Amino acid sequence: MGDKSRIEAILGKILEAVGQADDRGRPADYIEQLAYVDTRYCALSVCVANGSQISAGDHATPFSIQSISKVFTLAIALGRHGNQLWHRVGREPSNYVFNSAQALETRAGIPANPFVNSGAIVVTDSLLVSGSPRETLAEILHFVRYAASDDDIFIDGAVAASEKRTGHKNFSLAHLLRAYGNLTQECDETLGTYFHHCAIAMTCAQLARSGRFLAGVQPGGTVIAPTHLRSINALMSTCGHYNGSGEFAFRVGIPAKSGVGSSILAIVPRRASITVWSPGLDDYGNSKLGLAALEMLSERAKLSMFAVD
Ligand code: GLN
Repeated sequence: MGDKSRIEAILGKILEAVGQADDRGRPADYIEQLAYVDTRYCALSVCVANGSQISAGDHATPFSIQSISKVFTLAIALGRHGNQLWHRVGREPSNYVFNSAQALETRAGIPANPFVNSGAIVVTDSLLVSGSPRETLAEILHFVRYAASDDDIFIDGAVAASEKRTGHKNFSLAHLLRAYGNLTQECDETLGTYFHHCAIAMTCAQLARSGRFLAGVQPGGTVIAPTHLRSINALMSTCGHYNGSGEFAFRVGIPAKSGVGSSILAIVPRRASITVWSPGLDDYGNSKLGLAALEMLSERAKLSMFAVD
């Protein structure tokens, strides 16, 4: 990735450019607690393979990681069920919006991939087979804290409660899954667990550290098997930005996962884990300026895996 001062200079330039943008996108408004986040926030953090970390902007302010939690639940589920998981969820990108019931109907109850909502609900359900919602959430939180080497990471109960009040689309997905025989637990149990892991709050710096295992750097021992890491990175590349994944590959070109809390976790395999947070979403539900920031970083640090120069 280059030396520290060079990365610092690049991050500084990106923050400046993002700070000047007029069109910042719109925060998710279907989850009340996210609707009023100040769109002037912006943070970037780069955690390189040797463990050193460079952060800029509002990197110490926590935000809701939302769908980025799907990466952690997938890692746990793959560790537990291995390839059996693929009987319940596909591995293909979807051209539908991330909470589409139509997409699920077209595939007769087998979600397209683990990163659309229906797929993540199935993954969460698979974790509940051997533990209560409380135990499962404790396991997820433990995993994230271990990966970040930081115990100061929590679930924001108010965000979870607010999503429960307004998450009607997710309720319809859970009921559809149940109708197709692809949900083992009661809808309320699975969704309650899902809403809570989506409500994990982290700072940009913590999130970058927690994603380092995906780059293949697993401090303190193996978190998950390298073969599963490869699968997760492949899925992040093809499905991590929903129906905007092609655009992300085109403009940035590395595995990444976005969340409606307006952050993105991006991985440069073997080299670094990168996060950006800039509230305000584009039409696909991805951070508008976060994507622009990563595009600039990818260009300047030559990160795209498709680049040949
Ligand atoms: N909790 C959100 C939902 O289920 C997560 C969606 C997202 O981040 N794209 O709608």
